Amino acid sequence: MAVRVGVNGYGTIGKRIAAAVARIEGLELVGVVKRSPDYAALQALARGIPVYAPDEDSLQAFEKAGVKVAGTLGELLDRVDVIVDATPGGVGAKYKPIYEERGVKAIFQGGEKAEVAEASFSSLCNYEEGIGKRSLRVVSCNTTGLLRAICTLNKAFGVEKVRATLIRRAADPKEIKRGPVNSIVLNPPRLPSHHALDVKAVLPWLDIWTAAVVVPTTLMHVHHLTVILRREASRSEVLEALREAPRIMLVSSEATGIKSTAQLVEAARESRPRYDIPELVVFEDTVHVEGRELVFFQAVHQESIVVPENIDAIKAMTGLERDPEKAIRETDSVLGVTKSLW
Ligand code: NAD
Repeated sequence: MAVRVGVNGYGTIGKRIAAAVARIEGLELVGVVKRSPDYAALQALARGIPVYAPDEDSLQAFEKAGVKVAGTLGELLDRVDVIVDATPGGVGAKYKPIYEERGVKAIFQGGEKAEVAEASFSSLCNYEEGIGKRSLRVVSCNTTGLLRAICTLNKAFGVEKVRATLIRRAADPKEIKRGPVNSIVLNPPRLPSHHALDVKAVLPWLDIWTAAVVVPTTLMHVHHLTVILRREASRSEVLEALREAPRIMLVSSEATGIKSTAQLVEAARESRPRYDIPELVVFEDTVHVEGRELVFFQAVHQESIVVPENIDAIKAMTGLERDPEKAIRETDSVLGVTKSLW
């Protein structure tokens, strides 16, 4: 029997997770929870996805607008094995007792505090830790990007220390109330930024410091990393490790002309649904190694990078797949995580 999945919160992340769940063999998308009868609700219904309202007030708003809903969140929870919470940061924690009361396994997103779930999850680092858990938190987009790189390098060479500066996008493309419009903002204006702590939620042993600024762009985040490896490595060894790893795409500026997030997104517009780039992009020509010290730039498509990890989290916690490599390979194959934009 398929694992029945519901998605609470049908925004940037929720709609992508719902679409992904519907494509994975062994998973059944039972429905999504939408708070208001807007264009996103109409699109879900047009695609045959049952829409649920979070509560009675919201249900009435749907009825008033003449938009058909399948019931309330409570009814959805009665029909699923797993709920993926993709509500705004902090809202998931408020739903947690309701999920527990109904005996439904829950996946939370990176906007929640680590304590919300039994473990913070990142497929390339700790898939096994997720097996059989009742609740998991898939770490944020920035942390997922950092962890994919760090765990890949740790597996190949060992990682002693990481120092990273994050240049963060100000808002997602759909947003109309966030900024900055004309500034570079220290976010936060002290060190370390919370990203270091979030990485440590998965790798508690790691010596890591992060700093972050927010800039007026909506397309992607960019990170600059300095990594101290445990042993000396050549540049070609590092490139080979990154090339062989799942979900990491090397892009050479010299070979492709791509030296910006705008060009990455333009390439993805031609080749990807919604121009999603769930792979972590490492700018190949910036990879520089001296002894044990490695530096490089990487880019994160914040809207889509956590989607494969959410699918893996469902597979792990339900025991649908216990072998991390197989789970990751199959998720990527179905979702078209091909490591190429051509
Ligand atoms: P979003 O605002 O795009 O979507 C959230 C959705 O939840 C909206 O449709 C909103 O109407 C709905 N919602 C609000 N309150 C609700 C409630 N009480 N019950 C049910 N639905 C409710 O947010 P998002 O960007 O998709 O973020 C969701 C989570 O994913 C957050 O934890 C965020 O930190 C995390 N995340 C976001 C990104 C990103 O860049 N957008 C990347 C990775 C992780």
